[in-house]
Amino acid sequence: MLTVRNPANGAAITELPTDDAQSIATKYRAARAALPAWVALPLQERIDMLRRFREALTADVDRLASVLTSETGKPIRQAKNEISGLRTRIDFFLESTQPTIAVRAVHNADGMREQISHEPLGVIANISAWNYPYFVGGNVFVPALLTGNAVLYKPSEFAALTGIEIGKLLHRSGVSEAIFRVVIGDGAVGAELIKQPIDGVFFTGSYATGQRIARELGPRMVKLQLELGGKDPIYVRDDIDVPKAAAALADGAMYNTGQSCCSVERIYVHQAIYEDFVKAFVKEVEGFKIGEPAAETTYIGPITRAPQVDVLERQVADAVRKGAKLVLGGTRVQQPGNWFLPSVLTDVDHSMDVMREESFGPIIGIQKVTGDDEALHLMNDSEYGLTAGVYTNDEQRAKSILAQLRAGSVYWNCCDRVSPRLPWSGVGHSGVGLTLSTYGIEAFTRPKAWHLKSA
Ligand code: NAD
Repeated sequence: MLTVRNPANGAAITELPTDDAQSIATKYRAARAALPAWVALPLQERIDMLRRFREALTADVDRLASVLTSETGKPIRQAKNEISGLRTRIDFFLESTQPTIAVRAVHNADGMREQISHEPLGVIANISAWNYPYFVGGNVFVPALLTGNAVLYKPSEFAALTGIEIGKLLHRSGVSEAIFRVVIGDGAVGAELIKQPIDGVFFTGSYATGQRIARELGPRMVKLQLELGGKDPIYVRDDIDVPKAAAALADGAMYNTGQSCCSVERIYVHQAIYEDFVKAFVKEVEGFKIGEPAAETTYIGPITRAPQVDVLERQVADAVRKGAKLVLGGTRVQQPGNWFLPSVLTDVDHSMDVMREESFGPIIGIQKVTGDDEALHLMNDSEYGLTAGVYTNDEQRAKSILAQLRAGSVYWNCCDRVSPRLPWSGVGHSGVGLTLSTYGIEAFTRPKAWHLKSA
C-alpha cells in the first residue's frame, strides 16, 4: 500500500493499493492487445476524445485542484493555473498533430516517389514527477495518445491521487482502460514497469533516477527521453529597471515554492546595481504570503517531499560556512508538515552547493559579477542546462549572450516560462530528448521511409 500524505501537516490522506510485477505485466499485455484497433482509429476520433478530456478538466477544475493541493501542498491558485495551463497545451496538440504527422511527400522524379510517414512507437511508459503532474504528464500522454500510442502512466508516488483522476477523466472521455493505464507506486514500481518489453520510456524526474533508467534501458535499445533537473541562472545587467527585474525574478525563484525544474536557482547581478537589487528582491519575497496551501491568498506552501527540507538546510549551512550572508529565512519551520522559510543568500560563489546543486525549494543565491564575461562564464559553469536568461534593455547584447548560453531554453527579460509552441529540452544533466512543439509530437512516432516506384 502507498500512504498518501498531506505535506502541509503530515497527516495521512488515504492508502492506495500499489502495482506489482504481475499487475504491471497484465496492464502491459492488455495495452499491447488493444493497440492495433487504437492505431487503426481515424486521428479525428482520438482528437475528439482528447477534446472531451480538455472539457472535463475545465468542468472539474476546482475539485481537481484541491486534490492536487492536498497531496503536493501546491498553493491552490497555482494548482488551478496548472490545470488551465494544460488546457492551453492540449489546444496546441489538437491543432498541430494532424499537420505534423501527415504523410510528407519529399521527392517525385523519374518514376520514383519518396515519402515519410509517422508510425506510433507502440506501448510507452510515461514516468512522471510530482511537481507539475498535469504539465509533465500531459506533455507526454496527450501527444502520445493522439499519435496512436498506448500509455502506461506512472504518476509520482507524491501525486498519485492526481494520476488516478487523470486516468478517470481520460476513460470518461473515451480512451479505453487498456490504452491509458495508471500504474501506482514508488520508484521500485517504476523500475518494474520499465522491465516490460515497452517501445519507449518518457521520464521526468531527477538526474539520479534518469541515470538509473538510462543504465537499465541502454542495452535494450529502447527509445528513451529524460527530462531532468536544472540549476537555472539569470544575469541582471546594470541597464535595467531594478525593482521590475527583482519582482519578476522573485516570482521566478519562488513560484510553486521553488519546486519547478525551471525555477530561477542562481542570480548574477552586475556590481553597479547589486545592493539595490538585493534590497528590492528581499522586499518582494517578504511580501509573499506563506501558509495553508488551500487558501486562495497563499503564495508559498510546504515542501512536497520531507527529505528536501534537509537538503535545503544543508545548502544554507554549507553556504554560510563558506562565507555567504543569509539575508532572509534559512530555517525550517517547527510545525507539523514540511516547511522551509523562503531564503535569500548573498555573497555566494561556486564553491557552495547552493550555486551548484539543484535546490528545488524556496531558496536562492545571488552573486555579484563585474560584467558580461564573468556572468556568462558563471552561468555556463554547471552540469545542468535547462534554462538560462538575461535581464537587460539592450536587445543586441541580450541576443549575443543568449546565443552563448548552454541551455535548452533561453530568456530575455522573462524567466520560468514554458510555451507549448517551443521545444522543451535540456543540455547535459538536464536530459536528452524533448517535449512540446511539433518536435514533441514527432517524438512519439517513428519516421518510416517509403520508396515507391511504379512497375
Ligand atoms: P524522482 O527522480 O525522484 O522521481 C520521478 C519518477 O520516477 C517518480 O514517478 C518515481 O516514482 C520514479 N522512479 C524513481 N526511481 C525509479 C526507477 N529506478 N525506475 C523507474 N522509475 C523510478 O524525481 P521527483 O522528485 O519526482 O521530481 C523532481 C525532479 O524532477 C527534479 O530534479 C526536477 O527538476 C525534475 N523535473 C524536470 C522537469 C523537466 O521538464 N525537465 C519537469 C519537472 C521536474
